[in-house]
Amino acid sequence: MKRREFLTTAAATTAIGLLSGCNDSDRQAIDYSKHPDKKSIADKNVHVNYNKKVTINLATSWPAHFPIMGTGVDEFAQNVKRASGGSLDIKVHAKNTLIPALAVFDATSSGQIDAFHSGPYYWKGKNSAFSLFSGIPFGLTAEEINSWMLYGNGLKLWRKLYAKYNLYPLLGGNTNIQMGGWFRKPINSLEDMKGLKMRIPGLGGETFAKMGVNPVLLPAGEIYTSLERGVIDATEWVGPALDMKMGFYKVAPYYYSGWHEPGSILELTFNQQRWNKLASEHQAIIEMASAQMNSNMTSQFHYENTQTLSLLKEKGIKIYNFPDDVNAAGKKAVQEVLTELGAKNKDFKEVSDDIAIFLSAAEDYSKASLHHFLNIRES
Ligand code: CA
Repeated sequence: MKRREFLTTAAATTAIGLLSGCNDSDRQAIDYSKHPDKKSIADKNVHVNYNKKVTINLATSWPAHFPIMGTGVDEFAQNVKRASGGSLDIKVHAKNTLIPALAVFDATSSGQIDAFHSGPYYWKGKNSAFSLFSGIPFGLTAEEINSWMLYGNGLKLWRKLYAKYNLYPLLGGNTNIQMGGWFRKPINSLEDMKGLKMRIPGLGGETFAKMGVNPVLLPAGEIYTSLERGVIDATEWVGPALDMKMGFYKVAPYYYSGWHEPGSILELTFNQQRWNKLASEHQAIIEMASAQMNSNMTSQFHYENTQTLSLLKEKGIKIYNFPDDVNAAGKKAVQEVLTELGAKNKDFKEVSDDIAIFLSAAEDYSKASLHHFLNIRES
């Protein structure tokens, strides 16, 4: 069965049923007061006291001033300070300075700190559905996932599930499409993937596992040495800009384009009570500054990647595409992963069904527009 049919049959039937009940004026009317961020502003009746400085302790999962992700958060904090006339001070704590990198979710949930900047797929052990908000192999691009989040059901579903952990998420950036990774040897067929030890986390890792790869999780600081010594055969990381800084091209020169993380979301998440206690002006400033962070970080990833790709090519690095049988096996594997996780967890099924409905429409639109345009531009 085709992937789209497989993903959408059940969910799409419901959607078509709902749509067919709408008349044209229903479809055109957009009630902006129901936009999740607008609602939180409208509900607030607490105002800022400019004589009293409010401090937010925000921990990240990144090293201090880490390129793009870390510096983006630094800039966000500065913008909040400027816009609030210094009445709101966001103190950014790099990973492991106040809270360990992967303990920021629990520390914010319990109120030990006020907020964190990280990525939702790190918390899949709490609820497998959280990994879906980071993106799905062969799923939504950065632009599409932002559309689904802000104007579709994404942010509503995310907030509903995070509310159970006393958390309130906002969009905090997007890596854009990630590269398939660095391989010590070329991949000429699916056979070459079998038994390969590869550092690849999340739904991408689960998908690769079904294709015969042994996914390995390693701390960032150990990846290069493991690759150099042949402890692992391959690694994915992010894209040209951040990958080049890691030096992988020196020890695993076969660089593949990819489909496992087509537009990974980063999050800015608050403790719910702390968020509720903020003055409405401060909430509005955070919402605007985080929207800018989301947009700027996405743009910066895109810009730095375009600049760095040519530097990698100057070093003799060529870009490869996975062979057709690898891509076909990946598409089949991701269907199996989504079905299995959906059968175990109703939250996962609810979110993945909603993404599937949006993806189906987004594919039709991109075929008619961007895909067509890029083919012509590049021919
Ligand atoms: Ca990655």
